[in-house]
Amino acid sequence: MVGKITERIGVFGGSFDPVHIGHLIIAQDAIEQLELDRLIFVPAAIPPHKLTHKLVEGRHRFEMLELATANNLRFEVSDLELARGGVSYTFDTIQHLQTEHPGAELFFIIGLDSLVELHLWRNIDELLEICTVVPFGRGGEDPERVAEKSQLSKVWKTRLLDRLIRIHEVDVSASEIRMRIAEGLSIQTLVLPEVEMYIAEHNLYT
Ligand code: ATP
Repeated sequence: MVGKITERIGVFGGSFDPVHIGHLIIAQDAIEQLELDRLIFVPAAIPPHKLTHKLVEGRHRFEMLELATANNLRFEVSDLELARGGVSYTFDTIQHLQTEHPGAELFFIIGLDSLVELHLWRNIDELLEICTVVPFGRGGEDPERVAEKSQLSKVWKTRLLDRLIRIHEVDVSASEIRMRIAEGLSIQTLVLPEVEMYIAEHNLYT
């Protein structure tokens, strides 16, 4: 018999190099639309996809997430991928979180565009079965077009599109923030003040 679900927990993975207002808005939108009790940010040690830049140390990315989420009771940060080290596979992370939170339903949120390469993720068939993968989309993308490009089975494409949540469109990325810092431009409106201060104090991204 399947046990009673005691909690609805969101899981949001990424590099968070650094965490910015776009990430926070996605997290808040997910909490509201999926009626989550809480959402856990999980910074990756080494993301499986090819990196375009060298990440700052995990302890910095973790600390910036802690600062950015401190005022929201439903936001949490986990260092489980950083502590595990090596390439961070979502399947391992979800299995770990399930052991930590027996009885909870885990909602793993991913950008809609990730559906295109989702078939390449480690143990994807099992991952789709053991948690609820929920794509989030920004206004500009056509979900049907993205699904067409995906190599998942028709059943899974339909299921995932049915779960799609819409998030506020915020045109900000961590790469832009890193670039602006390197060029001496302000990042004041793109990250929380605590994160901006942390970056300056630790001389990151210069
Ligand atoms: P980078 O610019 O270094 O690639 P990023 O800003 O996309 O970083 P990640 O840590 O890779 O940040 O983000 C985790 C997830 O959040 C990814 O799926 C990414 O596509 C998504 N994301 C980041 N910023 C936004 C945004 N402004 N709107 C919607 N999704 C976003």
